[in-house]
Amino acid sequence: MRLTVVGCGTVVPEPDRGCSAYFLERGKTRALVDCGPGAVQAMARLGLPWDHLSHLFLTHFHSDHVGALPGLFFAFRHGIQPPRTSMPLEVWGPPGTRALFDGLAAVLGEFFIDPGFPVSIREIVAGTEVVAGDLVVTSHDVPHTPESVALRIASATGAALVYTGDTGPDESLAEFCRNVDLLLAECSLPDDRVGDNHLSPSRLARMARRSGARRVVATHVYPQFRHAVDVASLISEAGYAGPVELASEGLTIDL
Ligand SMILES: [Zn+2]
Ligand SMILES: [Zn+2]
Repeated sequence: MRLTVVGCGTVVPEPDRGCSAYFLERGKTRALVDCGPGAVQAMARLGLPWDHLSHLFLTHFHSDHVGALPGLFFAFRHGIQPPRTSMPLEVWGPPGTRALFDGLAAVLGEFFIDPGFPVSIREIVAGTEVVAGDLVVTSHDVPHTPESVALRIASATGAALVYTGDTGPDESLAEFCRNVDLLLAECSLPDDRVGDNHLSPSRLARMARRSGARRVVATHVYPQFRHAVDVASLISEAGYAGPVELASEGLTIDL
C-alpha cells in the first residue's frame, strides 16, 4: 500500500500546500481520503490518476476536507478525455454524506450523482468493516464535529495506517490505532493554545505511545505553529520514541 500526501494544510491558505487530501494505492484500488481545496490540482501536479479514482473516503464535512468535491466531480464529468464511462466510483463518508451529495447535486448539477460513470454513495457505520477493493477500512467516531470519524485502513498484507482526520483528545483512539505501521495524525496547535477539538504535540505523543504505532506523520499543523517551532521534535520530547516527521505535499510512504 502506498500513501502519497496530496494536501496537508489547514483552513489557513498557504503557498506550498493545499488542504487535507491523501492518496492511497494498492493493486487496482486508488483511493482519495478527504478532498480539501487544492486536492485536484495537487493530484495532477504529482502525477496521480485523479481521473481513475476507485474510492473516495471522507472524514467530516469541514470545508478544508471536502471543499474540492465540486472541482473533482466537474472534472470527472467534463475533464476526462476520452470520457470515463464504465469504471465505478465508491464514495464513503460519515452519516450525512448522502445528504451532502444530494445537496451539492441540487445546487451545482447532477454531475455529482451522475458524472458519466457509476457512482455509489454510502455512509460508514462506525466499527463496521468496509471492503474497498484491495483495502479494508474501519471508522471510529472522534470528538471534532458530530459526524467526524478517524479511519483505519489495512491492506491484505496486514499493513495498516490510521488517519485521525480532525479530532480532539480521545482515550479510545489509542486502542483504534493499536500497533499500526503508520499513524497519520493531525497536530493542529501547541499544547498551550489547543482547544477540545484538535490535537497538540503532547496529546499526539500520548496517543502514539499508548497505541504502539510504529511511525508518526503529523499533519494539519497550523502554519503559525509550524513556522515557529520544530513540531516533530516537540512530539518526540513529549514521550513518543518512534520516528516522527511532518507531512508535506508529495511525501510518499510504502507500507
Ligand atoms: Zn475539521
Ligand atoms: Zn481540518
